[in-house]
Amino acid sequence: MKLVLNGVTIEAVQGDITREAVDAIVNAANSSLLGGGGVDGAIHRAGGAAILEDCYRIRDRQGGCPTGEAVITTAGDLPSQHVIHTVGPVWNGGNQLEPDLLRNCYIHSLQLADEYELNSISFPNISTGIYGYPKPEAAAIAVKVIQQYAETGNGTVTHIRFVCFDHDNLALYEQQLHSLNDESNESK
Ligand code: ADP
Repeated sequence: MKLVLNGVTIEAVQGDITREAVDAIVNAANSSLLGGGGVDGAIHRAGGAAILEDCYRIRDRQGGCPTGEAVITTAGDLPSQHVIHTVGPVWNGGNQLEPDLLRNCYIHSLQLADEYELNSISFPNISTGIYGYPKPEAAAIAVKVIQQYAETGNGTVTHIRFVCFDHDNLALYEQQLHSLNDESNESK
């Protein structure tokens, strides 16, 4: 599913984010920035040591990365140009600011992309793996932030891809993008 909103192409695909040839892929990192399981492990494995070296430099400068914030590194051997590492919230029932923190992950990743004047970015389904965020709620938050980014129209990013690893997430993102498409057609 693909739609264009105010000049920004938004699409949901199923796949492995390490194979994305875009300006930046986003990593669902942890606050140590030293790698972990899931998509984080896959990105470090496929990208090689250069990514971890950049992460160590960032740690020397600012410590780790707080939840909801984002930092940018090289993509090493990956086909993308950069990796934006953001730290999603661990799901703790929903009353520990999880929605705000997850929203911030998408907002701050896009802010970094603008700062670096990037045009294309691919997001994984942040927090919906090991961190246990319910997938439907997470998909709704992600698509809402991207909608607002596109509608505001001040950013440099013109291509946004949600790279879903599992079929559940793909189905949820397709649903969200269909609703967004209907909404934007109605307002034309
Ligand atoms: P978190 O700790 O933020 O939950 P995970 O890496 O456990 O991070 O999971 C985040 C999402 O990334 C999950 O939906 C998981 O299925 C997905 N994922 C895992 N490996 C990959 C990959 N190679 N490409 C894209 N998504 C992946």
